[in-house]
Amino acid sequence: MKIYNTLTKKVEEIKPREAGKINLFVCGPTVYDFIHIGNARTFVFFDAFAKYLRSTGLDVEYVQNITDIDDRIITKAIVEKRVWSEIATQFEKTFIADMAALGVTAVSRYARATEHIPQVIEQVKKLRDGNHAYQAKDGWYFDVKTFKDYGKLSGRSTEMAEDGVSRIDDGVGKRNKADFCLWKFPLSADEPAWASEDLGPGRPGWHIEDTAITEHYFGPQYDIHGGGQDLIFPHHEAEIAQQEAASGLEPFVRYWMHVAFLVQQGGKMAKSKGNFTTVHRLTEQYSKETIRQYLFSAEYRSPLEFSDEALEPFKTAQDGLKKSLRRMAVYSKRGAFDVDAPDSAEKLSAIADEISAALADNFNTASAIGLWSGLVSQANQLIDEKKFDSKAYDVFKNIADDINAILGIIPEVSQIDIPSDVAGLIRQREEKRAGLDWAGADALRKDIEAKGYTLDDTPYGPILSET
Ligand code: AMP
Repeated sequence: MKIYNTLTKKVEEIKPREAGKINLFVCGPTVYDFIHIGNARTFVFFDAFAKYLRSTGLDVEYVQNITDIDDRIITKAIVEKRVWSEIATQFEKTFIADMAALGVTAVSRYARATEHIPQVIEQVKKLRDGNHAYQAKDGWYFDVKTFKDYGKLSGRSTEMAEDGVSRIDDGVGKRNKADFCLWKFPLSADEPAWASEDLGPGRPGWHIEDTAITEHYFGPQYDIHGGGQDLIFPHHEAEIAQQEAASGLEPFVRYWMHVAFLVQQGGKMAKSKGNFTTVHRLTEQYSKETIRQYLFSAEYRSPLEFSDEALEPFKTAQDGLKKSLRRMAVYSKRGAFDVDAPDSAEKLSAIADEISAALADNFNTASAIGLWSGLVSQANQLIDEKKFDSKAYDVFKNIADDINAILGIIPEVSQIDIPSDVAGLIRQREEKRAGLDWAGADALRKDIEAKGYTLDDTPYGPILSET
């Protein structure tokens, strides 16, 4: 498969470092609040991507960190007069619940920053011993001038990095403006700190937890690192500097993948801007399949627009799909596919090949979803023309299962237990229809609808659905 590599700015074939194995790391959330649908775009994308890689036979070890110690958590704790770790625990729980509600199941291991403090300290010591880190008044800093490749991911030089960009640590007594903090000393008794004889008491800086965690699980070099595009600079640039300076080995990561923003009225959805919709709220309103179909509807390197109405067309599409799937299941039982149509399975398989090609080409979910909709339409058309045989139905179901295992966009269509009173109404209505009593049949249809069902008349008899 091919993906766009932010490091080389090219679409490249993925070649695992070790045959058959991929180590994948994706930056996780800072757990100080509910996550929003913008964060979810990145997490749901990599969930599907990891599932796809596994479907091709690769053994994928997917690690995601959880930033459970950070300035934003500490600030919230001070404002709300709570213990910082209680806030982290609370929002880690809501994050895990949100991921489950969105069908995100591909992560092999969630790694908390606070459970990797010894690894962080070790890495900072290595950088200090290699003269890449120095002590300032409020912590240990990485000296960007000691790393000649600084800027190779984002295309910035150390001078440009000094242009006062946001989220660069404002330390006291830094050598270069672009230097970033590795180990922060506590500035007050409210700030948590871990003991370290070598470094002094402190907590990890923003960037170091990720490289400490990945070195621990993957070693100093691995295959794929992902995240949202806002992380390219300074975060991922800092990770490269830390790990390559600490180990002397390059490349730290072979392939860097970045997901474009979910935007609202043209601007990035962000907690700091206050223009966000939480996953928690959205999953109460829409099914996970609807949300995922929406998130995959744009190619991952293009922005995706969000609004309160943005998911409605996807909900409508899901309802239509449910109807089609139900119709197929009922038709199959009623013998509608006992026809002679030797070409029908082949037609569907040809579209399935195109879907596979779209996913293999930089994981183009937008194109795959378009093709899948086309495949459902093709199947419906063949059914209407009585050119859909049971082999085609088996092929259709297999394709749907394969797509669903990766994208998770196909709703479950459960069998309806038809209550006996409704079954009686359907029977009576069939009798009225047989006697050409259309007014009587319509009245019975209304009775059925009043009980929470819709009825479709088909050439193979009526099909009941729940409304
Ligand atoms: P944070 O908790 O802010 O560090 O974000 C967690 C992840 O969500 C990171 O990979 C971010 O790049 C990603 N992210 C944040 N906002 C957006 C957005 N509006 N669209 C897509 N990804 C985002």
